[in-house]
Amino acid sequence: MHSKAAVDIETIGRAVLAYAEGRLKLDPVPLDNPLTPAELLARVGQTVTPEGINGERALGLFTDVLAPACLSVDHPRFLSFIPCAPTPAAAMFDLVVGASSVYAGSWLEGSGAVFAENQALRWIADLVGLPPEAGGNFVPGGTIGNLSALVAARHTARARADGERPYRVAATFGAHSSIQSACDVMDAELVGVPTDAESRLTGAALRAVLEANDPRTFFAVVATAGTTNLGVIDDLASVAEVCRELGIWFHVDGAYGGAGLAAPSVRPRYAGIEHCDSFIVDPHKWLFAPFDCCALLYRDPALARAAHTQHASYLDVLNDSGEWNPTDYSVGLTRRARGLPFWFSLAMHGTDAYREAVERTLQVTRFAAQEIRRRPELELVREPDLSVVVFRRHGWSPEDYQQWSDRMLREEFAFVVPTKHDGEVLTRFAIVNPMTSEDDITSILDTMR
Ligand SMILES: *Cc1c(COP(=O)(O)O)cnc(C)c1O
Repeated sequence: MHSKAAVDIETIGRAVLAYAEGRLKLDPVPLDNPLTPAELLARVGQTVTPEGINGERALGLFTDVLAPACLSVDHPRFLSFIPCAPTPAAAMFDLVVGASSVYAGSWLEGSGAVFAENQALRWIADLVGLPPEAGGNFVPGGTIGNLSALVAARHTARARADGERPYRVAATFGAHSSIQSACDVMDAELVGVPTDAESRLTGAALRAVLEANDPRTFFAVVATAGTTNLGVIDDLASVAEVCRELGIWFHVDGAYGGAGLAAPSVRPRYAGIEHCDSFIVDPHKWLFAPFDCCALLYRDPALARAAHTQHASYLDVLNDSGEWNPTDYSVGLTRRARGLPFWFSLAMHGTDAYREAVERTLQVTRFAAQEIRRRPELELVREPDLSVVVFRRHGWSPEDYQQWSDRMLREEFAFVVPTKHDGEVLTRFAIVNPMTSEDDITSILDTMR
C-alpha cells in the first residue's frame, strides 16, 4: 500500500491534480446542494470495502456525487455564517502541505515550516501592535484558539493569586458561542456584561460587573473585535484600561473581524487592541486561507508555554532544547503545518494585496448597506462596523425568511440564511469574499421585493 510500485502515483497524481486544477479554475464555482444520507447511499453505495474500490473510482465518486453535495463556501453569493474564500495560491499550497509529511509541532522536526509560519504570525502581530517577543501558533479554529488563550490566562492568574483560585470570565452576551464552550470545557463561569446602545462592550459596564462580583475571582476578560452576528467591535481601549487597572488578562477574539486590522479605512476602530494579552484571528474567515486555520498570539508567550507544554519522558528531548515548539502554545500536541497555505499566499502576493482585498470587501459591504437603505421594503438593523450587514424585510414572518432562503439555495443561486437579533428573525450578509460583487448584492436584494 505504501510502496511506490503499489500505487500508480503518476496516474492518480495526475487525476488528483487535474481535479484540483479544474476546481480552482471554475468561474463561477457551483453553489451545490446538500443531499440526504439515503440519497447519497443510493448514488455512491458502500465505498469502504475489504478489497478497496481503487483510486479512479473513489475520485470519480467524489467528483460526481460527493463534492456536488457540499456547498462551495467560496461561492460569491455564499453570504451566510462566515464564508471562506481561499486564494487559489493558498488552496494549491494546501496540496503541498499534505504531500510533504511535515510535523509542525516542534522546531526539531519542522523548523522550516515553523519559521515560515512565524513570519506570517509576525505580520499579524504587527497589525495588532504586539511587541517583538509576541508569538503563538496556528490552531484549527477560533474555538481552540479561544480555549487555549483562556487556559493560559487562567494558569497565569492562578500562579499569581495567593489563596484565590480565579474561576470566572467576563464577556458580553454578543461574544461568540465558543467562549461559553471554552468555559464549559474549563468548568469556568462566564459572567455576561451588558452592552451599550451600540451593542459594544465598554470599560464602564465591564468595571461595574467586575466590581459587583469581586474582580479577584476573574481570570480573563474577552472582548470581541467583530462579533459574528453583527460585526461589532467592542470599545477595546476602555476595556483594556479596566483590565490593566484590575490586573486581569485581556483576550481579544478577532476570529472573524481581526482581518479588518489590515484595512486602513477601519483600523482606527480597533484602538486599544495593542494592549491585549492574547489575540486570535481566523485566516480561514477573512484572510483568504483554506480551512482550518486560526492564528493565536500571546503578548508574553512564556505564560502560554507554562500552561500548555506537555511533559513526558519521550518529550524531554524537545522540551529541553529551548527551541520554539509551536505545540507549547495551545491545546493539542500533533500539529499540521496549517499556517503554510496562508503563508505561501501572503508571501506570493504581498501584504498590500491583502490590504486591498479586505478593503474591497468593505467597499461591497458599504454598497450593500446603501442599497438596503435605499429600498423601502428593507431596513438596516445597524450600520455595519465591518463586513456584516444585518437587515429586515418589512412584513416578513420567520417562515417567509426561511422559505426565501430555501428557494435561493434550491436554485443554487445564493446561500443566505436567516439569523436572530434581540429575538427577531432577520437576515444577514457576511462579505469576506473579494469576488462578491455589487451585482451579486443587487441580484439577491431584488429577490426580496
Ligand atoms: C467563527 C468565530 C469563532 C470560532 O471560530 P472557529 O474557527 O469556527 O472555531 C470564534 N469567535 C468569533 C468571533 C467567530 O466569528
